[in-house]
Amino acid sequence: MTFNPLTAAVSGVQELLPYVPGKPIEELARELGLDPAGIIKLASNENPLGPSPKVLAAIQAALPELTRYPDGSGFVLKQALAEHYQCAVGQITLGNGSNDILDLVARAWLGPGCTAVFSQFAFAVYAIATQAVGAQGRSVPAQAFGHDLEAMLAAIDARTRVVFLANPNNPTGTCCTTAALADFLSRVPTEVLVVLDEAYIEYAEDEALPNGLGFLAQYSNLLVVRTFSKAYGLAGLRVGYSISSPAIAEVLNRVRQPFNVSSLALVAARAALADGAYLSASRRLNTQGLRQLELGLASLELTWIPSKGNFLAVRCPHAAAINQALLERGVIVRPLQGYGLPDFLRISVGTTEENARFLAVLSDILAHG
Ligand SMILES: *Cc1c(COP(=O)(O)O)cnc(C)c1O
Repeated sequence: MTFNPLTAAVSGVQELLPYVPGKPIEELARELGLDPAGIIKLASNENPLGPSPKVLAAIQAALPELTRYPDGSGFVLKQALAEHYQCAVGQITLGNGSNDILDLVARAWLGPGCTAVFSQFAFAVYAIATQAVGAQGRSVPAQAFGHDLEAMLAAIDARTRVVFLANPNNPTGTCCTTAALADFLSRVPTEVLVVLDEAYIEYAEDEALPNGLGFLAQYSNLLVVRTFSKAYGLAGLRVGYSISSPAIAEVLNRVRQPFNVSSLALVAARAALADGAYLSASRRLNTQGLRQLELGLASLELTWIPSKGNFLAVRCPHAAAINQALLERGVIVRPLQGYGLPDFLRISVGTTEENARFLAVLSDILAHG
């Protein structure tokens, strides 16, 4: 008998379809023989500003210590986060990207016989993290592409341990109101953990987006997850965090790797948190870019899902063919057929020049095929 990796895998893993990331620039360059410098990537909701100079300086200063393990407790970064958000250090959990936190949640609270509730069109990692530990995902039909909170409440049963809620959601950009979130939280059974994923919250221009942190004092079953990958511009470093009751953080701490956040990520995130000017600039650029994309798409008679993130899900007839034509012209966007949205392409907001180039190439493709 030889080792059969597939049949030997735990049952959830046998059925698992891996996450499909946005195509890296270098990969497209290799595949089509293009010059990487001429390729633009608007596919992974990355920050088009590039990292903050203050972050780069902090990383530079930390390089001589690379032979040492990082501080496994992340003390300095947690201290800075606690000060920034006026919470206790014991409420914070750091992750190798917020994706790490989502996996820790699954390992701590999900397993065979349990269910996790999330929405149709929700961030793909919820289903993957759930299934990988042998739990069952319950994908609740969306309403106008957004989370149907009533239906999600109805899907919670005695086997449900976790509800994942992305607000705003990726890939749709939909967002619920503060009142709807408050109502939802008040009605989730207290023995079920609510994971509120706020990866895009820093893009909010005003107080209009609900802020999950405001509910933590009231709900000991709430975990708010955030990231340095988007508005803070550190996707390549992998650092995210959650804020919750200290009791939740204590359980997460049991299942995490002892050194799950690298030393460079720790110092970079701390510097990023202190650089308010960079965050404002990235918010401003995003708001302008969204407007620029919306105007351009409207002039091409295309429609999109209104978005509170740094991306737009655009309805495109023949989306797969248009995606291929965009790739051939050096523009990488994200097809959404894997999310059950085969008629949509998701466009991340780029710089003014990148947005203009995308719109010009798309216009050309639509006019000439
Ligand atoms: C991008 C994204 C994340 C962040 O992932 P990281 O692992 O922190 O890079 C988390 N949740 C959602 C909904 C996202 O879109």
